[in-house]
Amino acid sequence: MELKKCARCGKFYASEVEVCHECERKDNADIMKLKGFLAGGYSKGISKMEISASTGISARNLNRYLGYEEFSGVYIPENSEMVNGTSNSKNDEGTINV
Ligand SMILES: [Zn+2]
Repeated sequence: MELKKCARCGKFYASEVEVCHECERKDNADIMKLKGFLAGGYSKGISKMEISASTGISARNLNRYLGYEEFSGVYIPENSEMVNGTSNSKNDEGTINV
């Protein structure tokens, strides 16, 4: 069986999933928190940094979760102040041009 390096704590383990068993529980707790946060309504312009600050999920883990298929419809910018370089045009609706 192939050993993988845990995406969360760096420990080597043998499993199908991305993290070791210990971290899987923590991941699940974080993901529940993230889902709750997203379901509770959030402003469109919110950045990963802001979500990280309000949920307590580290930016690194947050990036990992947002790469998962279940969050594929969710787009969160890295930093709300650097969206397309138009830092002074942020409005209340957080309109994103597509
Ligand atoms: Zn781990």
